[in-house]
Amino acid sequence: MVAGDTPGITPGKKEKKMGLRCSDTTELFFEDVRVPAENLIGKEGDGIKLAMMTLDMARPSVGAISLGIAQAAFEAAVSYSKTRVQFGRPICKNQGIQFMLADMATKIEAARLLVYQASWLKDKFYKDRIPFTRQAAYAKLYASDVAMQVTTDAVQILGGYGYTREYLVEKYMRDAKIMQIFEGTNQIQRIVIAQQLL
Ligand SMILES: Cc1cc2nc3c(=O)[nH]c(=O)nc-3n(C[C@H](O)[C@H](O)[C@H](O)COP(=O)(O)OP(=O)(O)OC[C@H]3O[C@@H](n4cnc5c(N)ncnc54)[C@H](O)[C@@H]3O)c2cc1C
Repeated sequence: MVAGDTPGITPGKKEKKMGLRCSDTTELFFEDVRVPAENLIGKEGDGIKLAMMTLDMARPSVGAISLGIAQAAFEAAVSYSKTRVQFGRPICKNQGIQFMLADMATKIEAARLLVYQASWLKDKFYKDRIPFTRQAAYAKLYASDVAMQVTTDAVQILGGYGYTREYLVEKYMRDAKIMQIFEGTNQIQRIVIAQQLL
């Protein structure tokens, strides 16, 4: 663990990001930084094992954030579809919109169950140390893919307004994208799952 005010650490440029803009992401440079031995986390040589375990712990949380984004986008889409009147009736009366909403709701429910399962196994891990790598990857992979699909469909349901900053759905879509990239990209999740299966 390296404290931020340790001599030799300097921040670089702040990244201009597509989404997740409430959280700053900045380059960091380390030059001749001296770290005391007592700052070592775990045992020497255990770094990769600890890093992998940390990813297992963090993936259900990324699943949970993805689920929250998807749920918010879904609720915005339902609400808008009930009030937006086109061709003499609310757009939610069209089967084309209803089928989109039904698919969104089904995927969100499936993502919720995977996230809850992974979170439950994570809680249990503190006591029984039973690995839950595959279930953590399922939750992160599926919930983040669902967040991307649902937010994109929410933008579609809001039509032109969905593409403007007047409504939040475009923000949800931008925020959802990073969920497929961090804590191991979704390609990497599929590799992790396949390794566990074979
Ligand atoms: C704002 C922000 C915050 C982040 N925070 C975190 C964080 O807190 N924790 C964290 O773990 N990560 C975080 N990341 C993600 C991390 O920084 C990397 O972007 C991510 O691990 C992917 O690495 P890369 O960008 O080098 O992509 P690359 O490794 O160059 O991959 C590029 C593409 O190739 C694919 N690819 C690479 N190898 C394979 C393969 N073997 N098979 C199939 N496809 C492959 C990738 O899936 C990806 O689509 C963050 C990223 C951003 C932008």
